[in-house]
Amino acid sequence: MSTPAKRSHSQEIVERAKQLIPGGVNSPVRAFRAVGALPLIAARGRGSQITDADGKYYIDYIGAWGPLLLGHAHTDVERAVHQALERGTAFGLTTEAEVRLAQLITEAVPSIEKVRLVNSGTEATMSAIRLARGYTRRNLVVKFIGCYHGHVDSLLVKAGSGVATFALPESAGVPPEFAALTLAVPFNDAEAVQKVFVQHPGKIAAVIVEPVAGNMGCVPPKEGFLQTLREVTARNGALLIFDEVMTGFRVARGGAQELYGIRPDLTTLGKIIGGGLPVGAYGGRAEIMDTVAPEGPVYQAGTLAGNPLAVAAGVAVLEELGRRTNIYSELETRTRRLAEGLVEAARKAKVPVCLNRVGSMFTLFFTSGPVVDFETASAADRERFAAFFRAMLERGILLPPSQFETAFVSAAHTDRDVETTLETAREAFALLAE
Ligand SMILES: *Cc1c(COP(=O)(O)O)cnc(C)c1O
Repeated sequence: MSTPAKRSHSQEIVERAKQLIPGGVNSPVRAFRAVGALPLIAARGRGSQITDADGKYYIDYIGAWGPLLLGHAHTDVERAVHQALERGTAFGLTTEAEVRLAQLITEAVPSIEKVRLVNSGTEATMSAIRLARGYTRRNLVVKFIGCYHGHVDSLLVKAGSGVATFALPESAGVPPEFAALTLAVPFNDAEAVQKVFVQHPGKIAAVIVEPVAGNMGCVPPKEGFLQTLREVTARNGALLIFDEVMTGFRVARGGAQELYGIRPDLTTLGKIIGGGLPVGAYGGRAEIMDTVAPEGPVYQAGTLAGNPLAVAAGVAVLEELGRRTNIYSELETRTRRLAEGLVEAARKAKVPVCLNRVGSMFTLFFTSGPVVDFETASAADRERFAAFFRAMLERGILLPPSQFETAFVSAAHTDRDVETTLETAREAFALLAE
């Protein structure tokens, strides 16, 4: 086997990674397979930019898949983690900082009266589902096609994110008996939800939803959809779980539930509340949360749950969000300008697109749209998306490497970043139009 003369450092790392790690990645979408590109090897990040292993800069719209609302290597977060590190990395005992994070969460999200910290979004949804089942003493769970709630067995049914990217109907290794406890209905289809409750009276423990779907690309809820979920669950003695792992502290400080004025029974959080370190959380009405051990019979635990470094990062982010009260309106303005510019550039190049956006979350679908659920998202031209993605990447703009993912703008993105991105997009669209 001959070695190519000029192999980049990134290529060399990718090859080593492939020999040691399945697909060379620790999470499937990082392999960049859907876009036919070499996976990017990150070396460092600062503000809105990351640098790869060969020293090339990119304006980053992946944002670590959601956590980095304040951008890379934010000073407050760095300082907080350093300070925590000096006191010790883990105790397996309660620390005051955990109580502080719980307080910041409950203040920002009033439906969360009590909260439990875990290590990932997956753990949060897994635990919330168990709690809903334990509390209601029912087994069935309703989820929406194209929504992703982490890689929990029973929630990997008709899931979004990487599952959709790689066109897997469901995951191997999930026993059909588990999957049978999950009822999947189309997102934004209030009637389908009503029907499923009629078909399974007294059996449904919970409805779990991404209130703004972000894992089939960004798909906002239709007017009244979340309201219907609230009403139908309450009427049938089932719990409403908002999976706000992505939307919590993203679309508003109080998440999508603040934006749309809906009070779910349980909420899951992750991503932003860990400031780039591994944290998840689930919380809700105190009476429900008190069913969790040691108060109640639903068991859930974690050696590193509430880890001091992760909690310090989370506290630093949430405190900053508490201080910078205009951060969400700034993100709204900047992201709107970017979104409008992208649509305009596509129109000029006569490339049909549908841009969905809520606050600083957006997806540019390569279809004339509208995109309201997984079926309409799937109508997008993925080849075209991939070509656009590669053209942008070559020119230093990093988008999420799948049509079924959401791009994130952070508070560290500048007007200049937006302008550069739009200039680059005009070139990329021109290439597609050729
Ligand atoms: C990212 C995500 C998860 C999973 O979180 P992990 O930390 O990756 O386990 C769950 N739900 C939603 C809505 C997410 O976006």
